Amino acid sequence: MAQHFLLSAASRTLSLRSIYKAGEEAAYQTFCEMRWPETDGAAVCPRCGDHETYTISTRRKFKCKGCYHQFSVTSGTIFASRKMDFVDLLAAICIIVNASKGLSMVQLSRDLDCQYKTAFVLAHKLREAMAQEVQTGEVLDGHIEIDGAYFGGHIRPANAKANRVDRRLKAHQTGKRRVVVALREREGRTLPFVTMSEAEGVALANENVSRTATMSADEASHWDLLHRGWSVDRVNHSEIYSDHGKHTNMVESFFSRLRNMVQGQHHHVSPQYLHQYANHAAWLEDNRRTDNGTLARIVVSNSMGAPVSRQWKGYWQRAA
Ligand SMILES: [Zn+2]
Repeated sequence: MAQHFLLSAASRTLSLRSIYKAGEEAAYQTFCEMRWPETDGAAVCPRCGDHETYTISTRRKFKCKGCYHQFSVTSGTIFASRKMDFVDLLAAICIIVNASKGLSMVQLSRDLDCQYKTAFVLAHKLREAMAQEVQTGEVLDGHIEIDGAYFGGHIRPANAKANRVDRRLKAHQTGKRRVVVALREREGRTLPFVTMSEAEGVALANENVSRTATMSADEASHWDLLHRGWSVDRVNHSEIYSDHGKHTNMVESFFSRLRNMVQGQHHHVSPQYLHQYANHAAWLEDNRRTDNGTLARIVVSNSMGAPVSRQWKGYWQRAA
């Protein structure tokens, strides 16, 4: 049997040792090159596009010769007003892309020796950078598998039997349970959404799947509506998982990764952030055979090209 990709030397092209050995200045240069790839890392004014700048090297800032605007390599990106050293930021990215099932923020804060809150916000910013490649707005084509899975809203049974309630009843539920509906191309991208019910997946398919595609779904009756738009293979999971090539195993493997991420690392996810974890798992799934050096560069590059995160900038200041 072929060697698993993650066991191969080809999967390892970046290490914490190499990041720290190269040091802070090299890490800073990496961010400059990713921010301004067209000038090989030379600063370009984000306000007027002028390539002529003064360098204020003591503060790692630039001043535009044209409009006198002062800026840094992270101005206007999700890393704006960061306090972490660039070398630690790069190390954090390396640690996160290496975690193929995600990782808990307690663990990241211990690895980096930073506050839990810092790790929490940083990881969510990086998930936004990953999500740019997941939520591209392009329709899916080829053969698409669709499925849904429930996350969150666990109701803990009472200690004594006499106090336990019927947890299936709506009146006893927390209202925090959500469904992740995922569409996955057999030969390509994974596209997850967070909904209240799996049946909403039909509308999502209408918006996100090309009319020339074909689809696969399980036996759930709400997927019957998909037959109006596409030729759909159905597989009845109570009888068989894969029936002569008819299966939803690709989308199930995405759910397996997301399930492992939520149960094994985060333990608890609130409905408002579930889409971030789903995007993170989809990104990991789609990049499962990409080496870790490339993954880190993708994340840095997306972060530097990304606008300032409205949701995460100053998050803890607002929450306090
Ligand atoms: Zn300028």
